[in-house]
Amino acid sequence: MKYSVLADNYEKLESTSGKIEKTNIISKLLKKTPTKILSKVVLLLSGKVFPAWSEEELGVANQLMIKSISKAYGINEKEIVKEFKKTGDLGLVVEKLSKSKKQTTLGTRELDMEKVFENLQLISKQTGSGSQDRKMNLIAELLTQAKPKEAKYIVRTVLGQLRIGVAEGIIRDAVAGAFNVSAKAVENAWFLNPDYGEIAKIAKEKGEKGLKKVKVEIGRPIVVLLAEKAPSLKDALSSFDESASEYKYDGARMLVHKKDDKFWIFTRRLENITKAFPDVIEVCKESLKAKECIVDGEGLAIDKKTGKPLPFQSLSQRIKRKYDIRKISKEIPIELNFFDIIYLNGKPLFDLPLKQRRKLLAKTVKEMPGKVQLAKQLVTNDLKKADKFYKRALKAGQEGLIVKNLQAKYQPGRRVAGGWLKVKPVLESLDLVIIGATWGTGKRAGWLGSFILACRDPNTGDFLECGMLGTGVKEKKSTSKDITFKDLTEILKPHIESEKGNKVKIKPKIVIEVAYEEIQKSPTYSSGYALRFPRLLRVRWDMGPAGIDALERIERIFKIQKGRK
Ligand code: AMP
Repeated sequence: MKYSVLADNYEKLESTSGKIEKTNIISKLLKKTPTKILSKVVLLLSGKVFPAWSEEELGVANQLMIKSISKAYGINEKEIVKEFKKTGDLGLVVEKLSKSKKQTTLGTRELDMEKVFENLQLISKQTGSGSQDRKMNLIAELLTQAKPKEAKYIVRTVLGQLRIGVAEGIIRDAVAGAFNVSAKAVENAWFLNPDYGEIAKIAKEKGEKGLKKVKVEIGRPIVVLLAEKAPSLKDALSSFDESASEYKYDGARMLVHKKDDKFWIFTRRLENITKAFPDVIEVCKESLKAKECIVDGEGLAIDKKTGKPLPFQSLSQRIKRKYDIRKISKEIPIELNFFDIIYLNGKPLFDLPLKQRRKLLAKTVKEMPGKVQLAKQLVTNDLKKADKFYKRALKAGQEGLIVKNLQAKYQPGRRVAGGWLKVKPVLESLDLVIIGATWGTGKRAGWLGSFILACRDPNTGDFLECGMLGTGVKEKKSTSKDITFKDLTEILKPHIESEKGNKVKIKPKIVIEVAYEEIQKSPTYSSGYALRFPRLLRVRWDMGPAGIDALERIERIFKIQKGRK
């Protein structure tokens, strides 16, 4: 297949906003795609060259792309940067620049889709010294052969920003439409084998029956079961005939797969984080007694001195770390809290009730104090007892409880009603002032985004940074109450004090009310605290910067939240 076929379809998808039209465009393309290259086309349509869970990554940032474009077309890097600043999209830049260059190279061979795919995959294989140059050559080779439109989409694919508005749901429906199978069967199969490339092939070759046969496999992640929010502990308990409350640990989801002496760890986002946690693997070697199993749990970073859980950032340092892994694993040890088991010695356990799975889990996991344990659990429907347990969880520095239906199956990929309900304290919102922001790129070019929030130091009158907000602001207005990026940009523009690169300093004038999930300690912000997942509730036109919340209030909420009052 010519790459131009794909590029034409990308263009159609980009210019349509309707979900149904997009689904139809992809369906039509998949129908006429030869089976041999179907998986590759599906991956490329989702802007990928590897399944979501692969450890491979292209590792090409804007800077290297600018160099590659410069090399391919013999254009000065400064000129490319100048164009880039106008649109924030190197895809558009390359399309424009290559149009002016193309006359001289007309007549070159047409680019093949497989050649593009191969070069893209090869990019990820380049490591060590000289790897940047080799990556640049692989990109430049494609760009010199590409027509302007093709060049645009190659650049965007390499940068991981395809911008054609094709989410997973559209791929799911398109696969179903193309091969005459139900979207549900496609999705359920994808939960157990999260790679639409593979799923499309199964749908085409083996139909609905084939999809139903897709099974969980050791060494490949699944899309995990998630919890729904409960308004209160009372509500949660009354939802199930037989409830088990468990500590809601504030760490990272870790699904540990074991096959003989081989181990894997996957996150809920399907990342393979095995290499970053050799210490966890060693513990599992000793603790997991089955020949083959998949156990589900939460990994917590632990403070070596106090034995208490550390904030999520510490764990995230461990997840991201690519070097000196042994060293950091001594500095930030991990404690595993297993709460489920979904596979044991050749048998998937999804259909067993939680009550039975928990028994099997207890048989499979040998607890090792401070290193691995079963999630703390209390089986009761009594509000008083559960409330005591809830307070204990908060006191221990955890987020709250997850109340589980002991009779429920494990349903991958869903926030299923009737499964897990999370109960967390609701934290009061804060009134904060915006003191900085960043100019957006791509779709958000011309708008401010990533707003820096500040609280007040009542002693000095200074404004202290306490977080960065990007959610709650809308791209489009759907109700009159919505605040869009455009609105907020217009509100803030008159108060811009200075600009450096794409960063903007803003005079503290505009106050907003902010909700958030949690407050964490933070060395990077001048207040010493960071709001986790801050979300805009409204602009407080009625309030000036003098009225905003003081640092003490953040400190107080931080203490309450951790149950350390
Ligand atoms: P949330 O991220 O707020 O939707 O909550 C769901 C997450 O809580 C899961 O993905 C797990 O990572 C985490 N979690 C912590 N403790 C438990 C537990 N005992 N059972 C299930 N999930 C838990």
